[in-house]
Amino acid sequence: SIPLGYFGGVGGAAKRGILVKGSTFLDALTRVKTVVFDKTGTLTKGVFKVAQIVPKNGVTQDELLQLAAEVESHSNHPVAESIREAYGKKIDDSQVEAYEEIAGHGIRALVRNRLVIAGNDRLLHRENISHDDCDIKGTVVHLAVDKGYAGYIVIADELKDDAFQAIQALKKQGVEQTVMLTGDNRAVAERVAQNLGLDAYYAELLPEGKVEAIEKLISQSGKNNKVVFVGDGINDAPVIARADVGMAMGGLGSDAAIETADVVIMTDAPSKVAEAIKTGKKTRQIVW
Ligand code: ADP
Ligand code: MG
Repeated sequence: SIPLGYFGGVGGAAKRGILVKGSTFLDALTRVKTVVFDKTGTLTKGVFKVAQIVPKNGVTQDELLQLAAEVESHSNHPVAESIREAYGKKIDDSQVEAYEEIAGHGIRALVRNRLVIAGNDRLLHRENISHDDCDIKGTVVHLAVDKGYAGYIVIADELKDDAFQAIQALKKQGVEQTVMLTGDNRAVAERVAQNLGLDAYYAELLPEGKVEAIEKLISQSGKNNKVVFVGDGINDAPVIARADVGMAMGGLGSDAAIETADVVIMTDAPSKVAEAIKTGKKTRQIVW
């Protein structure tokens, strides 16, 4: 039977906007030594702003932005939303056909009968499109039309207000290792990791690469040490499923993520992770 105190623990956590799906996970939270975060939308706000539009090969800035907004018209990725926001005009998506979103890469679609590609370095590589090196310190969306390079758009995200404090609070709860996984580029990942004082980061990961990373971290941690993964649910439901304790953040994240998660954090505050661990520990003191 489940000790009564656990109900109090689960209920107490719920009052703080932390839904724990059963006493097993509350107990697991007391043994967490590694906390792994997704970057975009979890440690950062996930609200990108277009910072720079750099057309190439005779394309104009207006043309590049319009093309990007059109090809991104069906995507709900934060990258896509920022581009549509910067464009600001109504998009005629009847002109967008054969739309294909490639997780961890970007978009491929026919726009006004031209093959348009929008995404990261890896996508360009996959499509055999070369471009000049750009030493940009932000998140970059490259564009190509009919296999010709058309330029790039730089977008920037911001750290969440409580992200730094969230990491400090975990250390206070005895968490020994804080890690970040991201599909974004190395330069962006390194800056975020440094600013937050994370112990490690893995960048340029595909969704399956995130699963491999969590598996590696689980196998490296001792048998009694639990590994938490916290994500906002966009592209990361499989990682949430694989972690010892999978957390979905934001409440409004994808249904798949909320269903798979062992713990759902209703707000989008990463500092709730340390609170969840603290609640787990308090409950154990009451029970035993
Ligand atoms: P994260 O790990 O930061 O949450 P994702 O795995 O969702 O990011 O995406 C990884 C990378 O793939 C993004 O940083 C971006 O470069 C590219 N990407 C994903 N979706 C899109 C899109 N709709 N348009 C352009 N690029 C995209
Ligand atoms: Mg994400």
